[in-house]
Amino acid sequence: MILIHNGHFYIGGAFDPDIKAILVQDGTIRALLRELPADLNNYELIDLKEHWVYPGFIDTHTHSFEGGLYSLMLDLSEALSIQDVLDLITIARPGVKEHLFAWNFDELKLKEKRFPTRAELDSVIPDKNLILRRMDGHSCMINSFACNNLENAGIKIRCEGEVFKALENDLTVHWFHKSLDAESILANYRAAAQIALKGGFTTIHTMVGDANDSIGHYALLKKHLSSFPIDYILYAQSFNIEAALEVGADRIGGCILADGSIGSYTAAVYEPYKGMPMRGHLYQSDSFWRNFIYMAHRYNMQVGVHCIGDRAIAQINDIYSELANTDFKDLRHMLIHCEMTDDDLINHIKASSAVPVMQPAFDLYWGGDSGFYASVLGIERSRKMNRFASMLSRGIRVCGSSDWYITPLNINLSLDALLNHNNPAERLSPEQAIKIYTENAAWLSHDEAQFGAIRSGLQADFSVLNYNLFDPPPYSQRKVKAVIKKGILQYDAL
Ligand SMILES: [Zn+2]
Ligand SMILES: [Zn+2]
Repeated sequence: MILIHNGHFYIGGAFDPDIKAILVQDGTIRALLRELPADLNNYELIDLKEHWVYPGFIDTHTHSFEGGLYSLMLDLSEALSIQDVLDLITIARPGVKEHLFAWNFDELKLKEKRFPTRAELDSVIPDKNLILRRMDGHSCMINSFACNNLENAGIKIRCEGEVFKALENDLTVHWFHKSLDAESILANYRAAAQIALKGGFTTIHTMVGDANDSIGHYALLKKHLSSFPIDYILYAQSFNIEAALEVGADRIGGCILADGSIGSYTAAVYEPYKGMPMRGHLYQSDSFWRNFIYMAHRYNMQVGVHCIGDRAIAQINDIYSELANTDFKDLRHMLIHCEMTDDDLINHIKASSAVPVMQPAFDLYWGGDSGFYASVLGIERSRKMNRFASMLSRGIRVCGSSDWYITPLNINLSLDALLNHNNPAERLSPEQAIKIYTENAAWLSHDEAQFGAIRSGLQADFSVLNYNLFDPPPYSQRKVKAVIKKGILQYDAL
């Protein structure tokens, strides 16, 4: 028996000063104790040093394979000029075997405000495969060496040296990913699990597959699930329902794209981008989505689709709505990102029972009247982005996530972004913020009887922070102190 004690325990929406310890056996919470047992020698003790104990936090949308992979690769977030980018590649190059993944690239941060040209990339890395990915993952640039190899592999891409978007971006990224062996794939997930623990999470949802026809290494990862120190909730990220059924997947999709991103001007919006004629792209027709979602629904699969602009969200939600009216099943289909929603669209989402899986950090980075959203959408529309409070107040079960590797896998950052949303009308209370990362998230994966709260009979998953979110210290002082998964102290900074 394990006795977890000397902490403040968050139970049923508040810290309960009467609970002195939690008794854990075989990974499960057996009892919440109001008094410490007389003889502590009978127990294996975990002393939480008076820190604040939350239910294990759950991030409901990550790309952990890429996150793990990129944690071991070249990060371009500090680059401020084309020369910085080239210098960073030059420094990384001697350690490269065959492929160099450079990520977190943001041309808007560079003084030149552009991607490097292919000739510039070739000048520093002519003989290994290089991919340089934009921070939102929706566009990329490769060198000539990689371009030749892609062509030799029969992948049709333009080789004149432009930035790749949409399908070309996907094909290129997945060719790079597919070139890794089983051991490196699992190593990426092990790295990702450590980053999740450090970020304060006991469970993370992760996408597996090329967002096209392949479910990638889903079977490999499923086979090794019990070897990780956290729970991974898997998504077959593909349109291939047959392949997903074959490996026993009960969930399909993720970032299978209804549209692109605001940053790449490919998110599908009703009104044109500010000062431009374009309205983004719907990547697939209504009938394509109807066939796919109806088929998955027929096989009782939960569906998740990436949709960012209001036009794309409505496209997917309308199909969920039809199903809710004609063949309702409690599958909890998802609108991944669900960034741009006016009141009318929120009402439609409420009616369809769809679950928005949203990213607080998107508002943190791009929200506000002088932020990026406002600059490309106008201030009025920028206030209709990432509407956490409006959705919760309509009774929609919003879930929170990082979309890691797009934003950091860090519970302190995510909770803070929710409490301090750029739009005061969309700020959450501490209780609401905790709920979307615990109870709602567990419900999303149909795991509400397994975890998501501190309660007798549930899995002994706890995230221990050095602060009370109802009365937090300055952001820089907030720390993850420990993560306990199924009663085991997997991350210890106590
Ligand atoms: Zn995603
Ligand atoms: Zn996405």
